[in-house]
Amino acid sequence: MRTQTLGEMQSQALRINGVIDHAARESGNREIVSRWADGSITRTNWAGIREDALKMAQALEALGLKPGERVASMAMNHSRHLVSWYGVAGMGGVLHTVNPRLFDDQLEYIVSHAEDKVMIYDAAFQPIIDKMKDRWTSVEHYICYDSGEHTQSFEDWIGAQDGDYEWFIGDERDPCMICYTSGTTGNPKGVQYEHRSTMLHAIAGMQPAAFNFSSSSVMLPVVPMFHAASWGLPYAGAMAGVKFVFSAVNDPAVLHQLMLDEGVTDSAGVPTVWLAHFQYCDKEGIDLPPLKAATIGGSAAPRFMVERLMKNGTRVQHAWGMTETSPIGTVGGPTSDWDNLTFEEKVTKTCMQGRPIYGVQLRTVDLDDMATELPRDGKTSGALQIRGPWIIKRYFKAEQDAANEEGWFDTGDVGIIHPDGTLQLTDRTKDVIKSGGEWISSVELENAAVGHPGVAEAACVGMFHPKWDERPVLFVVRKEGSDVTSGEIIEHLKPLIAKWWLPDAVEFVDDIPHTATGKISKKDLRDRFADYKLEA
Ligand code: ADP
Repeated sequence: MRTQTLGEMQSQALRINGVIDHAARESGNREIVSRWADGSITRTNWAGIREDALKMAQALEALGLKPGERVASMAMNHSRHLVSWYGVAGMGGVLHTVNPRLFDDQLEYIVSHAEDKVMIYDAAFQPIIDKMKDRWTSVEHYICYDSGEHTQSFEDWIGAQDGDYEWFIGDERDPCMICYTSGTTGNPKGVQYEHRSTMLHAIAGMQPAAFNFSSSSVMLPVVPMFHAASWGLPYAGAMAGVKFVFSAVNDPAVLHQLMLDEGVTDSAGVPTVWLAHFQYCDKEGIDLPPLKAATIGGSAAPRFMVERLMKNGTRVQHAWGMTETSPIGTVGGPTSDWDNLTFEEKVTKTCMQGRPIYGVQLRTVDLDDMATELPRDGKTSGALQIRGPWIIKRYFKAEQDAANEEGWFDTGDVGIIHPDGTLQLTDRTKDVIKSGGEWISSVELENAAVGHPGVAEAACVGMFHPKWDERPVLFVVRKEGSDVTSGEIIEHLKPLIAKWWLPDAVEFVDDIPHTATGKISKKDLRDRFADYKLEA
């Protein structure tokens, strides 16, 4: 008979306040630098962030906020936003990071759905606040991060407290943050993170196979703090004691100067951010900043980007994830065969999405029969599923689970898993093109197309075809000054993809529609070309 039910180690709830206590105690002097929208620079440190978070927790209680209730932030990256990540969780509240680029109806929906009680925002978003105020009936208090012109300023608000506060202690599975997906179909959906899931995700994010942080890292995250819990960086960074450099504006000239002035070693952003940085450096005739590591995620990193960063001596950490996965699922980095690979092979591998970090499990299943698991053979593509302690179980206020009984969550992505665990994403389930019963990856076609020097952006969608069901059509935005033709693009594609993948038409457009997170919106593109007819 088993008599002992528990081991004999200490029990300590995995809660966010433990992270900021650790950072203040062990890395208290490590700087947090903020470059504000008006060009000013302020400096605090982890001890200062903790002090302000204690005051903020007090100030929220003084407003009558109860544990479990939501506080919204609509803000770019800066130290006061960082304070909120700890202050709200520290009093048991739930921080709702709102993406200011959402459309009005979506903004109304998510703030009402989350029943946000307090809204803290950057002065730059005052026009959005003015426009939405009447529609946000749940919001009782407005506070502004960087100005006291229209409402109470954040500094005055927390400044009225003495900071003599004990963190709220609840269950480690209590919620601490909520993010909404950008909802390319239907209403956005809320993903509520827990203290425990957030901590496990952040711990896993620090490992050498992921972000590889240490106390000597100086990190400038370009990924906005309102996007998918900003890839866990604000928590992982505190655990490691990194120096953070934040910029409230995403101008490449500003980012570049900050990187040089503050000795930035690590940065993270979506591909368009890196692209803008390349263009800035080319225009100025200057080198890329001497970064040790660049994390790229949110969309596929194109080959030329990976190659250029690697030639710059920068380790490229190509990561895949989604709001529903906290978000980190896989991260790329040197694999066991690395030393035997040529530079070209290393680039090819880095263009894939990396390997699952400890804690999550991946599998692919047949696109037509989701019950059949596919081999990890490096060639069979299927619907990508994931499970683990920081993967969604159920959307906020939903009636049914989003994951199946075994925990598998269907990502909506299509990919190939290689024998060494490397994930190669090939498409989204709804974008993959079915031609004569065979699948064509719209993403691979786009990536090949943007490698042409005359192409600024490309999007590929399947159009109805009487014989093949669907055939790919490539929409291209030319680079300024380029007069590249459709024939030249087809010639460029020929050596890069299978012959039967070649698009049936290349159409030149002035712009390609994007979602609120800056990704190509195929849905809007399809709507725009609803009457498009392929010549048979
Ligand atoms: P949203 O769904 O709101 O646009 P998410 O950040 O949750 O925002 O988007 C997740 C999706 O982004 C993934 O399902 C995947 O399709 C795409 N994605 C993320 N990272 C990568 C990557 N490294 N390569 C290709 N696609 C990616």
